[in-house]
Order: sequence, then structure tokens, then C-alpha cells
Amino acid sequence: MRVGVLAVQGGFEAHERAITRLGAASVEVRAAADLAAIDGLILPGGESTTISKGIEKHGLRSPIQEFVRSGGAVFGTCAGLIVLDRNHLDVIDIVAIRNAFGRQIASFECDIAVEGLGDESVRAVFIRAPKIDEVGEGVEVLASHEGTPVVARRENILVCTFHPELTDDMRMHAYFLAMAGSKKRAVEA
Ligand code: GLN
Repeated sequence: MRVGVLAVQGGFEAHERAITRLGAASVEVRAAADLAAIDGLILPGGESTTISKGIEKHGLRSPIQEFVRSGGAVFGTCAGLIVLDRNHLDVIDIVAIRNAFGRQIASFECDIAVEGLGDESVRAVFIRAPKIDEVGEGVEVLASHEGTPVVARRENILVCTFHPELTDDMRMHAYFLAMAGSKKRAVEA
């Protein structure tokens, strides 16, 4: 199993560590060719405007959309979620609001139950997190915090507004690796 991490800006290294801890190979993605041999792609947190610009600059917009369309699994965390929303790459039908928790409570942690990860809750680390404001048809909400969705999935696309790469709990990444492994990409079929 090979999992790519978009490495144009943001916290990609922590995601790489999580992937390798789970026994998969991690690949830094900076060019379209890097998408060829991976089963899944993670878009990390960081600065969504910078990541979006980097995607354009490296000619990755259509290649990422095509990767997802052909069945490649994708996981967007925090800024990575914003980049995947309807107003950016439009690979999942959600609308994110940036920095939605305001300056006063820009960062916080809490325990959240996530559907599919068992009974034990996940320690969720929010850092200048976005809020998922709209959820389109077919998008499944796997976790919410105070009535707002924080983890959502549609088929091969997973998004969360917090930072699962910053704790030792590997279950979100393990869940994503299972998604990436369960579906062979159409181009390979
Ligand atoms: N506030 C950042 C943005 O809007 C996201 C923060 C993060 O990824 N931790 O891009």
C-alpha cells in the first residue's frame, strides 16, 4: 500500500509518520506523475489559500480531480478539507467556512465519537479549524461537534476538520488506509 501526501505546504510530515507507523509506504506528492503509483492521497492541514495556489502552480488541479474520479481514495484534514470542498477542487459536495471558530477559541481539543472507529472516542485537535457549513446529498456525516459535522465521507472521499496526525491515535489513518485498500483504481482494473 502506497499513500501519497500532498507536500506543497502545511503539516505533511506528521501524516507521513502516521502512514509509515501503520506499515504503509508514504510518497510526497508535488507533481502529477507522483499520483500514478499511489492508492490514496492525503491533503494536510496548513494554509488553504497557499495549498490551493501550490496545486495550481504544480499543475495538480485536474490530476487530483481525475485521481479521485477514477476511484483513488482521498483524505482532507483541516485546510485539506477546505481545498476539497465545492468552492475549490469540488471533489466532495460540502461547503467549508474558514477559521469558523474565530480568534477567541482558535484552537481547542475535545473527545469525539466517530462512526466506524469503535466505542472509544477520538481526541480531536482543532487548530483554526473550518466548519462544514453545508453537506450535499450522498455525503455521510461520521462525527459532529456541538451540532456541526467534523468528519464526513462520500465513497472514496474522507474529510475531517481536526488534526488526527497530531495524536498517537492512529484510527483515523487506519480507517483511511482501509478505504484506500478496498477499492482498486479504475485505471488499474
Ligand atoms: N485556518 C487554516 C485555513 O483556513 C486552516 C488551519 C489548519 O489547517 N490547521 O487554511
